Amino acid sequence: MENSQALRKFLAEPRKAVILTHRNPDGDAIGSSLALYHLLIKMGHSPVVVCPSEYPVFLEWMDGVHEMVIFDADMDRAKAEIESGDIFFCLDFNALDRIDKVGELVAPIAKPKVMIDHHLEPESFPEYLLSDTQASSTCELIYDFIQLMDWEEHLDIKIGECIFTGIVTDTGSFKYSTSPKLYRTVARLVELGVNDYLLQDLITNSQEEKHLRLLGHCLYNRMEILEEYRTGIITLTKEDYARFDIQRGDTEGIVNYILRIRGIIMAAFITEQPTIVKISLRSKGDFSVQEIAQKHFKGGGHKNASGGASFIGLKATVKKFRELLPEYREALNRVNEFTV
Ligand code: 5GP
Ligand code: MN
Repeated sequence: MENSQALRKFLAEPRKAVILTHRNPDGDAIGSSLALYHLLIKMGHSPVVVCPSEYPVFLEWMDGVHEMVIFDADMDRAKAEIESGDIFFCLDFNALDRIDKVGELVAPIAKPKVMIDHHLEPESFPEYLLSDTQASSTCELIYDFIQLMDWEEHLDIKIGECIFTGIVTDTGSFKYSTSPKLYRTVARLVELGVNDYLLQDLITNSQEEKHLRLLGHCLYNRMEILEEYRTGIITLTKEDYARFDIQRGDTEGIVNYILRIRGIIMAAFITEQPTIVKISLRSKGDFSVQEIAQKHFKGGGHKNASGGASFIGLKATVKKFRELLPEYREALNRVNEFTV
């Protein structure tokens, strides 16, 4: 962000700031939004977080989460908040279509827009862009943004806890996308007083019995391993959704279990939703799932974690995915899983 001085100047006066994040928000989306929310309140601004859909239950403990405005649940309020915004912050998403109707409302508004994000290929609409696809999380970038704006004096435990939450969830508890810089950032947060043990416990060990039963079902009954393609697939049907009473967020993280098998490079989690089939992809090393998500499933994301959708039903989607594999066979078999 080369024009950060202009943004500093704009934020020298109290502003109504609308913080936007993506549908089905994860710990990074909520963590980065609430970190900025608390920071802006402290600086005398009037921020509001607007999210297209509800946050997952495992983030219920976060300070500020109940003040968020959920577009799906309260459209009139969301519209009013957006219309009265002086500045818009787009966090943890790279394109306005990732926030559906909210994006359509925001696009025509001629007010400054700031994007802070770590997804590939950010759109060019924001006047202010802090994009780093090497960053572990948007939360890591919120910390960088605070430094860049010279706002370190406002950083406190509450803001630090939000930043830590996004870092933990997006790195899978420091397993992916780490760097010396990230560990230095986290060291700073712990020095501030952030209780890393307590937060890891809140984030990881807050599942209900049904989540573990569902995980067992996925791994025992619904997982298929295609050794020659070093790929594993888990599929869930509408009936599974009813039987296990699966709600939003309940399937988070299941896809990663497939990568625990030695030699597996790509994992696919394909689920039958009410109107679409959702596909979540993960990979190891140099094998990129971003291209597959973008080219074949109208999606995108990161090299090792991407997602998309399909409109041809579950069976046909699984068939389509399997038929793509020969094209990637050589690339999948080239990856040495022990080199990054
Ligand atoms: P997940 O598999 O957890 O839903 O998403 C993994 C990553 O892929 C996230 O970074 C998310 O932003 C991206 N992603 C998931 N679904 C979509 C999609 O439908 N479109 C795009 N562009 N990205 C997606
Ligand atoms: Mn993220």
